[in-house]
Amino acid sequence: MKNKSVKQKQAILKKLFELFDRFSKEMDRACDEGCAVCCTRNVTLTGLEAKFILDELNNNEKDAVLTRIVKEHHKNRLIPKTTINELAKICMNGEEPPEEFADPLWGECPLLSNQKCMIYDLRPFACRSMISKKRCDVTGFAEMDEYMVTLSNVFMQYLEHIDNDGYFGNLSDILLLEGDKGKYGSAIPDENILVNKQLEILMVPPEHRERITAVINAIQKI
Ligand code: SF4
Repeated sequence: MKNKSVKQKQAILKKLFELFDRFSKEMDRACDEGCAVCCTRNVTLTGLEAKFILDELNNNEKDAVLTRIVKEHHKNRLIPKTTINELAKICMNGEEPPEEFADPLWGECPLLSNQKCMIYDLRPFACRSMISKKRCDVTGFAEMDEYMVTLSNVFMQYLEHIDNDGYFGNLSDILLLEGDKGKYGSAIPDENILVNKQLEILMVPPEHRERITAVINAIQKI
């Protein structure tokens, strides 16, 4: 993907979102407007997704989003230790992945305003794929179908792969980095920012291999 322009990668990103919508339609979902229990400070995304969000917003919207992020940036949030393609490799090698620490009680996503997402149509894949079988505002947590987790992981792995010269991290850190400095694809990794990796092995358990084949074929045709 290194020879593709940002615009070409963004076009692939949009197609991946469309394909995910198509393949996730069949899943049980209780998610509805007004429920934002899963909108925590622990959402992650790639630099390509952050650039896509900021490119699509007008100046006023962008200012509003970045102002919220800056205001809340000192608060606790998930700082991921691995990307999903790194995690897949760690598992493939039979190694123990590092422990990730994320507490939903750290509070809501900085982009949640009056229980509504400020960037709903542009939201990161991590938000799109949080599809719960039961109302989280009743149970207090999302309950995802096991196949839904596999479907989501596969898309997330391809999302990282198409941005494999970019970076990955918490929504606040990556949006701020991109919005403040416009550093798409050239960030210097630090303790908050990871470098994306190429896809080497898909995280698909044996029981989902047959069912996911049509999805993988469709992704590979993009
Ligand atoms: S970006 Fe939007 S959908 Fe995602 S967690 Fe934040 S408020 Fe919720």
